[in-house]
Amino acid sequence: MSSAYASDTAAAASPRPQTASEALQALADGNARYVANAAINTDHSAGRTARSEGQQPFAAIVTCADSRVVPELIFDQGPGDLFVVRVAGNFINEDGLASLEYAAAVLGIKAILVLGHSSCGAVSATIKSIHDNTLPPGHLPSLVNAIRPAVYDVMAENPADLLAAATAQNARLNAQKAETTGPILSDFHTSGKIKSVAGVYEIATGKVAIL
Ligand SMILES: [Zn+2]
Repeated sequence: MSSAYASDTAAAASPRPQTASEALQALADGNARYVANAAINTDHSAGRTARSEGQQPFAAIVTCADSRVVPELIFDQGPGDLFVVRVAGNFINEDGLASLEYAAAVLGIKAILVLGHSSCGAVSATIKSIHDNTLPPGHLPSLVNAIRPAVYDVMAENPADLLAAATAQNARLNAQKAETTGPILSDFHTSGKIKSVAGVYEIATGKVAIL
């Protein structure tokens, strides 16, 4: 292989996004390819040597640990393109903030997408916990307590689909947290170098809706 990037067609078609809007567009374009089953980032051995020298992901994805939610596939990106922070229920705790601060200040990401998904077990467990007025066993209350504010927000509106509404609100609240938490992330957002958005991944269709 003469080039460090064997997938030259994909690399030429998709130069690294330089702005927040370019980064979000690249994610949207990649998701459209994924939905159409027309992925171009399929050669995962390409660029291994170049990647050993460093990383320059263009976006951070905060998403659920759910096995059906696979950011590199969903957005048709290759190794080194996405900085992924995962925890069941896709909320941002102190460790998540630190991870995103590193991605912003050191790696130069241009966008943060907090991605909820359909049929999320963590959000379902939180709704059940509130309805039953009980806490799940073990360390699960930690997840439930983190997701609870989103459920309370939408319960007042009595939505037809509480799970979907709470999933969307949880993504929104955490995108706001990424945007407003100082000092590092808030500065990057104020200066326009990074934009944070919320989205929901629909498992049945493969589509990501930006909220
Ligand atoms: Zn989930």
